[in-house]
Amino acid sequence: ISRPIFILKSTEMEDDEGEEEYLFKVVIIGDSAVGKSNLLSRYSRNEFNMNSKATIGVEFQTQSLDIDGKEVKAQIWDTAGQERFRAVTSAYYRGAVGALIVYDISRRTTFDSVGRWLDELNTHSDTTVAMMLVGNKCDLANIRDVSVEEGKSLAEAEGLFFIETSALDSTNVKTAFEIIIREIYNNVSRKVL
Ligand code: GDP
Ligand code: MG
Repeated sequence: ISRPIFILKSTEMEDDEGEEEYLFKVVIIGDSAVGKSNLLSRYSRNEFNMNSKATIGVEFQTQSLDIDGKEVKAQIWDTAGQERFRAVTSAYYRGAVGALIVYDISRRTTFDSVGRWLDELNTHSDTTVAMMLVGNKCDLANIRDVSVEEGKSLAEAEGLFFIETSALDSTNVKTAFEIIIREIYNNVSRKVL
């Protein structure tokens, strides 16, 4: 695998004013039912589904963000159910320069899986990946099974950003995606990609 195909910063991507444009691939990973699809639908369409069906196959949404007056686009990929069969393929990870590793704060087993997801990401990635550990469903504080401190310290130990979110009530969803997209942009600017 050569250089990531989704960092497009080229003349073909220049807009009408001759400004550079950017397109970054970001993947969402984590155990089944932690809220990956709902985080993406909340961010991209401001939608939430109580009974989201896990469709098979990869789906992605493209979102634009203005950073320093530049249009930065993130192509955000959702496993769309493949993770249930531990069948997330290397193609899913290929070219990714950002990742959200999601667990459910009300289900400890999903937190215990984070290490396995990180291993998989590291195995398949061929470049610097900006990574954020996301403790989703923070609206379920009354049945919390993983403390904020545990999330933070795992993130610190692994060198990840950390945030708790709720796709249900929108807490920190936009922030989570935008921190990671900005970090990718900074990585590109610093040429560490
Ligand atoms: P995925 O398998 O990781 O894509 O998870 P989904 O997005 O399909 O969500 C799984 C279930 O968790 C669905 O019933 C969602 O309604 C629910 N869910 C997702 N995010 C949240 C959240 O932030 N809070 C609560 N309470 N439920 C959520
Ligand atoms: Mg899903």
